[in-house]
Amino acid sequence: MEKVAAEQRVHELHELLNQYNYEYHVLDKPSVPDAEYDRLMRELLQLEDEFPELKTEDSPSVRVGGQVLDSFQKVEHQIPMLSLGNAFNEQDLRDFDRRARQAVGESLSYVCELKIDGLAVSLRYEQGRFVQGSTRGDGTIGEDITVNLKTIRSIPLRLNKEIDIEVRGEAFMPRNSFEKLNAVRLQNEEEPFANPRNAAAGSLRQLDPKIAASRNLDIFLYSIADTRNLGVDSHSDGLDMLDKVGFKTNPERRKCTTIEEVLDYIKEWTEKRPSLKYDIDGIVIKVDSFDQQDELGFTAKSPRWAIAYKFPAEEVVTKLIDIELSVGRTGVITPTAILEPVRVAGTTVQRASLHNEDLIREKDIRIGDSVVVKKAGDIIPEVVNVLVENRTGEEIEFLMPTHCPECESELVRLDGEVALRCMNPKCPAQIREGLIHFVSRNAMNIDGLGEKVISQLFDEQLISDVADIYTLTKEQLIKLERMGEKSADNLLSAIEVSKANSLEKLLFGLGIRHVGAKAAKTLAQHFEIMEKLQVATREELTAINEIGEKMADAIVTYFELPEVHDLLNELREYGINMEYKGPKLVSVEGSDSYFAGKTIVLTGKLEQMSRNEAKAEIEALGGKVTGSVSKSTDLLIAGEAAGSKLTKAEQLQIEIWDEDRLVQELRK
Ligand code: NAD
Repeated sequence: MEKVAAEQRVHELHELLNQYNYEYHVLDKPSVPDAEYDRLMRELLQLEDEFPELKTEDSPSVRVGGQVLDSFQKVEHQIPMLSLGNAFNEQDLRDFDRRARQAVGESLSYVCELKIDGLAVSLRYEQGRFVQGSTRGDGTIGEDITVNLKTIRSIPLRLNKEIDIEVRGEAFMPRNSFEKLNAVRLQNEEEPFANPRNAAAGSLRQLDPKIAASRNLDIFLYSIADTRNLGVDSHSDGLDMLDKVGFKTNPERRKCTTIEEVLDYIKEWTEKRPSLKYDIDGIVIKVDSFDQQDELGFTAKSPRWAIAYKFPAEEVVTKLIDIELSVGRTGVITPTAILEPVRVAGTTVQRASLHNEDLIREKDIRIGDSVVVKKAGDIIPEVVNVLVENRTGEEIEFLMPTHCPECESELVRLDGEVALRCMNPKCPAQIREGLIHFVSRNAMNIDGLGEKVISQLFDEQLISDVADIYTLTKEQLIKLERMGEKSADNLLSAIEVSKANSLEKLLFGLGIRHVGAKAAKTLAQHFEIMEKLQVATREELTAINEIGEKMADAIVTYFELPEVHDLLNELREYGINMEYKGPKLVSVEGSDSYFAGKTIVLTGKLEQMSRNEAKAEIEALGGKVTGSVSKSTDLLIAGEAAGSKLTKAEQLQIEIWDEDRLVQELRK
């Protein structure tokens, strides 16, 4: 890869990894699976290896991920809480072993431990009394969560020896507590936790200790922060000592003297993993002798004497009991596999979308088949393939129906589409799904109006279109199942609040075909008020950068419908805002900015701002930033060490500025 391209990619990777770290460690709500995070991190490490000059002090590759929430007292870790280097396959482990033996000699033992999937905490004891407990945070500064940790019964408040000691371990939520917690959350129409790790972290990083107390958390301690003066000289002795003074350590640890034994331990636990009562995401391998640990030392982020082997994404086998059909908001019929409940990557899976008929045919999925299931991106359950060799001959081939399972109208397969559709606009399933979409987070975001409540309201005929939501009364709501007076009040105020939403939320909520959340925003920003969009022509719409012909047609057709006209009038009457409230678009013609209407390319390293910041500022002033230099480029901004783009711009005689000139123009 060329240096300039590598630099751009490193920059992108920094941004992505920082964002994912924040979501995972601070919000306890990851948006991508760990495997994806690990893949990007490996890419960054490889680039930094190839171009050492691109490795910065603040690179995610050299920093421990977490940050501290302001709501907690901060705790400084006298001895940093580090992360671990990762191994993903046998070769990585053999390399680790070779490096260690090269550094400290052939005589070496390891301790293999289960890598508990929870969150790292540090516990400080003075004279045998528990005085402070904290999260890892960024490794140096953590959060004081003493009160929450005190609610974990397996953390001794007093040791059976009056010693000063700081110990580290993994707090976690056992699987059965996790299943129960999520069942209750679903019942209360709260969002379930993605996995036990997030549930544990979310429970301990709460200001109210009652919440942590109710969550049945547990802990395994796995290291001593400072072993001086404790009379132990190896990790395994340290763990035995922790047991003796009253801490809970994991009993499954094993001392190994060769890498073959380590590999056997990993193989054994890869198989036994499902039988555990808690989740593990790998195996940690640590050099046992403290002297040898000292010799090996640390990198900025992790010890050189330990490594974490990560399990590959999990695949399991289960039985496909049935195939159910559902009708979506746009009439698409989706087949869903009903599975014999099975545990995959942290949760019990019972359903997996089969998407469409073609996919069922392609994979030759039959009712009664043994199927391999995994979670795509560790989140969405998916049928990977059928184990044809397990067939008994009793499996039943699945045939798609010819009529809608909800309203019985004939199903159609439109040209070029794989999906079967119900074309009846009055199909109850479509209306119900449309209502659920209208209140969803990216649309009108009405809290407390989940799928179940909507279905009840719809079945009771209290709502039949989205405008009816704004006519609901307290008397009607409290008659619903599990709806108390307080929830009814909360719901009514959430409905009221939604009236003030900016236009794009309403637009997305209406569910116009092909108009997703991003297009809704573009349309709202462009037309600013609903009235203008309602009368927009196909030409006006396609003139907007991101609006294609298909979408423009769908929008025009939608607003021509008399029932849509009536619906919008009704919503207006109920006081629903129909104006855009976000940042305004800079009109190119009206703008006096130098950048307005120009096509600009950024290259080289900028010192005073990141490339993304520069791009955002230029775009806010009406410029368009593109990735490559061509005849249509108006201006090239060349930072430090600009390469081929600069040469090309010179050849094409395109105007070239340095960063100072750019900043001067931006600050005008
Ligand atoms: P890590 O999970 O690779 O390993 C270090 C941690 O392992 C320790 O801090 C400790 O908490 C834990 N651990 C469990 N059992 C242990 C034992 N017996 N001995 C020692 N430590 C043990 O590193 P990390 O810095 O905590 O987190 C990075 C990982 O987190 C990434 O590799 C990725 O898998 C995940 N992550 C995911 C996202 C995402 O968006 N999905 C974002 C950031 C991080």
